[in-house]
Amino acid sequence: MGGLHYEGAIFRPPSEASSLILQISIGCSHNACTFCIAYKKKVFRTKSWPEIEADIAVIKKNYPTVQRIFLADGNALCLDTEILLKTLHQLYRELPLLERVSIYGAPQDILQKTPEELKEIRNAGLEIIYFGLESGSDNVLTLINKNVSAAQMVEACHKAQNAGFSLSVTAIAGLGGQALTEEHAVETASVISAINPTYFSILTLMVVKTAPLYKQIQRDEFRLLTPLQDLQEIRLLLDKSTLTNCIFRSNHASNYVPLRGILNRDKNALIALLDKALADPTLLRPESTRGL
Ligand code: SF4
Repeated sequence: MGGLHYEGAIFRPPSEASSLILQISIGCSHNACTFCIAYKKKVFRTKSWPEIEADIAVIKKNYPTVQRIFLADGNALCLDTEILLKTLHQLYRELPLLERVSIYGAPQDILQKTPEELKEIRNAGLEIIYFGLESGSDNVLTLINKNVSAAQMVEACHKAQNAGFSLSVTAIAGLGGQALTEEHAVETASVISAINPTYFSILTLMVVKTAPLYKQIQRDEFRLLTPLQDLQEIRLLLDKSTLTNCIFRSNHASNYVPLRGILNRDKNALIALLDKALADPTLLRPESTRGL
């Protein structure tokens, strides 16, 4: 995006592909999950108000008709409430066609803000929080060094929902490896059902060589699922989930079988599709075409 000040590689959720990205923080304040290399090269910091204000002026000049903005990086919701409010007020004031602003938020970011602060941020026009649940199992969360419990995940999500936010929650199939696959599926189903988010997506674990998890695989401390085990895990997770009008996607480049629908309405059809793929592995996305 011409003229905007971006530092390092920028990530955004697939559904924000057409949004303009405004970077208000650099990296991830946790930056220690064993499977994730997204922000490993960045030293975490939040941008100052003058830095953000300068970028908003660039947006106003170069992209005055923008309708959707995504606030990056990893967990930009950790910014001081005052700066977040200033950012949102300035964006909506300067960009008359702006319809939606969204953000990545970690559970700690939500838990650290008061219900009033969250409501104020929501009322200022932040609409969607993208939330990395990864797993509903405490054992898996400990294994991946997420530094948060499943109960805190649920607490944070309910707090955000009570403030009026839409949540887009992501889990990662295969994250418990072979040892914890059943627990990962069943407990993630239980947690996602308790959250009942607006959007739910399941990615499939892919491990790059620079991720700490890669070394655990080399040492045989973690065994990746086979593609068919991955489908069995997703099948069990869907089977055990109880959701209401939840927009479900598992059609990322990392997934072996693309799934999409409304849960629970389409649960049986999605499970039938998985059963078809389990019976005929030629229907799976070839390993060589999978991507992060
Ligand atoms: S998965 Fe999320 S919280 Fe964990 S290191 Fe990556 S960006 Fe940070």
